[in-house]
Amino acid sequence: MEDAETQYLIIGGGIAGVSCAEMLYTLDNEADVTLVTATSFVKSVSSVNQITKLITEFQVEEQNIEEWYKTHNKVKVITAKLSRLDVETKTVYLDNGTRIKYGKVCLCTGAQPKLISDDNPYVIGIRDTASVLRLQEKLSDAKKVVIIGNGGIATELVYELKNISVVWAVKDDAISSVFLDPGASQFLIKEVEKGKEEGGPCKRAKYTVQTSNINSQKEMLGSALGPDWHQALQSEGSASKKKVDIKYNVQIDKILTPQEYGDTQNTKEGDEKYPVYVRFTDGSIVGADFIVSATGVTPGGQFFKDVLELSEEGAIVVNDNMETSVKDVYAAGDVCHAGWDWSKHWMQMRLWTQARQMGMFAAKCMYHHTIKEPLDLDFCFEMFAHVTNFFGQKVILLGLFKGQRLENDYELLVRVTPGKEYVKLVMQNGRMQGAVLIGDTDLEETFENLILNQMDLSVYGEDLLDPNIDIEDYFD
Ligand code: FAD
Repeated sequence: MEDAETQYLIIGGGIAGVSCAEMLYTLDNEADVTLVTATSFVKSVSSVNQITKLITEFQVEEQNIEEWYKTHNKVKVITAKLSRLDVETKTVYLDNGTRIKYGKVCLCTGAQPKLISDDNPYVIGIRDTASVLRLQEKLSDAKKVVIIGNGGIATELVYELKNISVVWAVKDDAISSVFLDPGASQFLIKEVEKGKEEGGPCKRAKYTVQTSNINSQKEMLGSALGPDWHQALQSEGSASKKKVDIKYNVQIDKILTPQEYGDTQNTKEGDEKYPVYVRFTDGSIVGADFIVSATGVTPGGQFFKDVLELSEEGAIVVNDNMETSVKDVYAAGDVCHAGWDWSKHWMQMRLWTQARQMGMFAAKCMYHHTIKEPLDLDFCFEMFAHVTNFFGQKVILLGLFKGQRLENDYELLVRVTPGKEYVKLVMQNGRMQGAVLIGDTDLEETFENLILNQMDLSVYGEDLLDPNIDIEDYFD
């Protein structure tokens, strides 16, 4: 068994782990950092663009470790899988036989997609590069796909796919409900069928996928994809055009084989035959070439269940200094649960922005605890802020953008210019609690400030969204 020792150990080469390693070097150029990751590539962040105090856009690139190492040659990188964490002796055991003693360790091992079926070859989840390649393989000779889920991945995929018939099954009465309310969904729905035009907008510059890194492992151990993951996807099916049917308020009841389907139906000669069928809770049955399961993720905390405190959903609980229940063990990104008292306008969502913020903040905490200096929770956790792109439109979500935690004690102000912009404000007692901005509204900075400073806006009433008032100038 090979033995090693390191001051700071990071497990996981996704955005959280890599951001943590990079921040440790920013803080201490001489830091002794080791990064262990299960696959031979890491996620790196570049072209960071600070749009407002809290909204940041950046590019995510997948790099093989040798390439990343050229600019980070002080970090010792080990490609191996964590087999065991012994918190008593402060040692990790890797599957390549290496044993590493650490001063402080940060666990950034991400999450896994929740699949509607684990062992059906016609069901695929999307998490890492390998899974996108599996999707691509299936698409090349597919005419029809069922997509299950109502979050960002399902939304992007429905938009991106071309030359294929898509049945999009959502459990709510509106699309993209994880991020949008029914009004905003309505604003975007016209774009669904239209689909993406060649060269249409993307979130950021092209996301790169290195096919040489693809392994065929069923287990998804690669990092989660970053923004614009679909840019590298050959998104065409084999049908002559695209068609989208949305099924609202349904969930999957059962996945049927052609045999099981045949037993329940009077199939006629000439009926289209599919390798898999889905029976929904409304009794309808839909055949497809394959099914995409995009129903959220399960944080990978179970691996640590014997040593660390976990949340109900299986995430590692961390405090406001990213510390787990065990001294010198930290966690960041999708694997962790933010276990501190959240500020009124912040909430945890498993997004790359938060993976990066948590990774960087974990590094600051590890460093400050080493030099025995206390550290307050970072300002980025003061208010939720996220920028994304749905159906070719820029979407900015601020604060309690869906009135989360406000019970029903709030009102909405909405301004819609069809095809151009959608602006929704969540107001409580005359103070702004959240906002949804779709299109190029240029209002993000003003509204971010108004949510943060909780100014009493009662006197403005509905004038707040009067298109004839330059609100940006007004609150400057
Ligand atoms: P991960 O990226 O999952 O990284 C985990 C790392 O740990 C990997 O390197 C893995 O190899 C390693 N690992 C795991 N287990 C072990 C082990 N036992 N031993 C060693 N190493 C291990 N977020 C957005 O904000 N905007 C988007 O548009 C967006 N789109 C997305 C699209 C898709 C298809 C997916 C799947 C996610 C998307 N997300 C998006 C979510 C975002 O990608 C994740 O929240 C973020 O990348 C999580 O980063 P992480 O570093 O915590 O975890």
